[in-house]
Amino acid sequence: MSLEQEIREYALDVGFDEVGITTAEPFKQLKQALQERHEHYYWVSDGLLELRSASDPRNILPSAKSVVVLLYDYYKLSYPPSLLGKIGKAYLSRLYVSKKRMFGARLKLVRDFLEQKGMNVGIRPAMAERQAAVRAGLVSFGYNTFVYAPGRGSYVVPVAIAVDRELAPTQSTSSSQECSENCRKCIEACPTGALYEPYKMNPLNCIAFHTYATGNFPDVPEQIPYSVRENMGTWIYGCDVCQDVCPRNQKKQKHELPPDGYLMEKSKEITLLNLLHMDDRFYLEKVQPMLYGYIWNKSILQRNAAIALGNTGDEGYVDELARSLNDPEEMVRAYASWAIGRIGGGKGRSLLEKQGSKDDSELVKMEVKNALELA
Ligand code: SF4
Ligand code: SF4
Repeated sequence: MSLEQEIREYALDVGFDEVGITTAEPFKQLKQALQERHEHYYWVSDGLLELRSASDPRNILPSAKSVVVLLYDYYKLSYPPSLLGKIGKAYLSRLYVSKKRMFGARLKLVRDFLEQKGMNVGIRPAMAERQAAVRAGLVSFGYNTFVYAPGRGSYVVPVAIAVDRELAPTQSTSSSQECSENCRKCIEACPTGALYEPYKMNPLNCIAFHTYATGNFPDVPEQIPYSVRENMGTWIYGCDVCQDVCPRNQKKQKHELPPDGYLMEKSKEITLLNLLHMDDRFYLEKVQPMLYGYIWNKSILQRNAAIALGNTGDEGYVDELARSLNDPEEMVRAYASWAIGRIGGGKGRSLLEKQGSKDDSELVKMEVKNALELA
């Protein structure tokens, strides 16, 4: 058996769904896109994820000769309906890279295997994973900027590992797996206009970005723009709209899948109101283990829950939002004020007027003033 076949067999055996190999040549298109659209991507180009550096595997492993790409299909179990439309499927699927969790443990097994075969390896955080998966022939880009695997759709996550061994590259996907030329469903469905033309998305307008990055990551806006808030619906972590409407995902979505028992159990307590009012213990014990990723500060999720409740327009939530006007975190008080204004009505107005006269925070005062114009 060739080394390439051995790698493939091992990775499939430990639970990855597809395996590909590409060269360690730079991903020039990514570098060019980051340069051309710096105003959209400045925050990941050099900062947090160092995407500019990710465009060349040799920045991750100077001796890199090939890149092994593992593809994981994370949509194998069905999600509790109460969490859909609130939390993106990728986050519900717990793609933790920690080796103490399933996804990270699989990754570590493959990494160890490659090292046992005598290779040096370079892995995350900075690697052009989607581009590597395309060049390895595992996926193709959709107009919505997600990558699609044949027969699986876009609910997949690629992981790229640079190795210092010349390996035979796998073949490219055929053009039959592209978007149909006239389809614009994802662009038309995007609630905030973040997707503005095929293959182009401005993260600074994207709901998913604002749920986890705004006010949380360095070098990004502190506040979610009003134009985005009112179009966020009930999303509190991620957004699947442009994937869910896609014809290339319909086959997958129509499949009857067994329920995710862990999520079914957890979902009973993960409600917008519980998130809005959660204490540290609830966050650490109930929320954090279930939601992989980027939200480390519970007030970010409380903020998002307040926006979601505001967007329901349901006056029945005004009293609950009023409780949050006493929250110690100004971010929570600020967004609860916005949500009360968004719902509107006389009761909301009088709550906002009281809050404006007693709250010391400049942020809250500003939000109250703007909320009063909405109410
Ligand atoms: S994730 Fe949501 S907001 Fe972002 S581009 Fe897709 S549909 Fe638009
Ligand atoms: S909705 Fe249409 S254009 Fe958008 S990714 Fe899917 S097939 Fe492509």
